[in-house]
Amino acid sequence: MRSLHFDNAFIRELPGDQEQGSRQRQVLGALYSSVQPSPVTAPRVVAWSREMAHTLGLSEVDIASGEFAQVFGGNALLEGMAPYAANYGGHQFGVWADQLGDGRAISLGELLDEDGLRWELQLKGAGRTPYSRGADGRAVLRSSVREFLCSEAMHHLGVPTTRALSLVVTGDSIVRDMFYDGHPQEEPGAIVCRVAPSFIRFGNFELPAARGDVALLRQLVDFTIARDYPGLHGEGEALYAEWFAQICERTAIMVAHWMRVGFVHGVMNTDNMSILGLTIDYGPYGWIDNFDPEWTPNTTDAGRRRYRFGQQPNVAWWNLSRLAMALSPLFEGVELLQAGLDRYAAAYAAADRDSIAAKLGFAACRDDDVDLMRSLHDLLAEADVDMTLFFRALADVDPQQPSLAPLREAFYDDALRTTAEPAFLAWLARYAARALDDTLQGDERRARMNAANPRYVLRNYLAQDAIDRATQGDYSGIDELLDVMRRPYDEQPGRERFAQKRPEWAMHKAGCSMLSCSS
Ligand code: AMP
Ligand code: MG
Repeated sequence: MRSLHFDNAFIRELPGDQEQGSRQRQVLGALYSSVQPSPVTAPRVVAWSREMAHTLGLSEVDIASGEFAQVFGGNALLEGMAPYAANYGGHQFGVWADQLGDGRAISLGELLDEDGLRWELQLKGAGRTPYSRGADGRAVLRSSVREFLCSEAMHHLGVPTTRALSLVVTGDSIVRDMFYDGHPQEEPGAIVCRVAPSFIRFGNFELPAARGDVALLRQLVDFTIARDYPGLHGEGEALYAEWFAQICERTAIMVAHWMRVGFVHGVMNTDNMSILGLTIDYGPYGWIDNFDPEWTPNTTDAGRRRYRFGQQPNVAWWNLSRLAMALSPLFEGVELLQAGLDRYAAAYAAADRDSIAAKLGFAACRDDDVDLMRSLHDLLAEADVDMTLFFRALADVDPQQPSLAPLREAFYDDALRTTAEPAFLAWLARYAARALDDTLQGDERRARMNAANPRYVLRNYLAQDAIDRATQGDYSGIDELLDVMRRPYDEQPGRERFAQKRPEWAMHKAGCSMLSCSS
């Protein structure tokens, strides 16, 4: 572990806060504050990602060492690490929130792997920073399990995401009022080490822009292009415009993946939007069980449902337009930024069409297929049908003899199914005719569908079950779930229970159907 190579470009090249320590403050003219993780009582590694460890050059022996638990629990640093918290702002639920910053995330350093790729290691829940705004800088076990598992599950699903290396329990308890209803409780504390080439968010640019600090804004833009978009060349407005357009494209592709797999982020504030188009900040996220575009997992958002499933493509566009506003001091006019936003719309439409073709098993998406999918979405929503089960089973429908039989299991309600049956049969007839007219047939069609329609997703109740067990001291459920989610598109004999639709008991259980931001 000693031979890990750190190259801390962010703090080396960008201006930092003059003051050290975690005193709460407005930090002006600086993009980060140096701050040490706060020690914990008894750090213990309870889960880790072997793929991420391998990428970083960490062996199983390294992970099992006492030193690993100390470092990734926040009690020690490796040579070359230089911890800091980033300074950023953001729009939360549509409202400018001014300075937010890493209130409980502390970056340890930028590791260069054997292939020269850069991986920033960041502890979430490692104690207070100048940006903690009166909170404790800690994270509870339940939210840490959720972030750890979902980061890796999304990666294996092929969705752009930040990653997770380790989950450490701290041995300390922390107090949270889970539903903000006056019932605070002690909960076990934990720390996830998350990993990404960059944790820069839209909000990192919004804050200097809001403060009128154009020099700092420009410095951060130049840095981000050089470090995180090394393929981009040129200068001035043209370079900035192409960079912004690429952010728009990456964001579009990310959201199209979310819609493909049924992921609802839950808190798409601009401080939770990655400049690399990675899914970032796993909080009160959720997975679609019954297909419902109106659903949001986040209790804080239950009233207006700004971040509901079906709204995500529009919210991403709105967030990008906030970023465009922040970048506008670097441009003479708005045309180039508008062109970037147009690239978002085009890239989203293209990615959505790719996803339609793949999910329905066609070689390519024809114009009529967009309506075919829209009609299906309407049916799924009306008849209370499980999204994941339905699409997976659709591959088993024989276009020569279309029938509802392979799809029955996907319905939550028999009465609704009976009512909807004629409409589904009509849709299936239309679908079958289209499928028979395609160049893809038989096993090829099935293979294309099964590569786009996962058999296993991290259903809310599955994660909650692993959390309940972990809270009792049994961490094996986390490993098991992680292992299932390693191969989400494969049939895994003996693991059928992980592919079942949401059970009745999970409908109203906290953590399964609703989540608060408290974490
Ligand atoms: P989030 O909703 O997780 O994106 O968090 C919004 C802001 O609140 C960010 O600036 C976080 O760093 C901060 N924050 C959330 N939870 C805590 C906590 N327990 N301690 C300190 N800051 C926090
Ligand atoms: Mg956040």
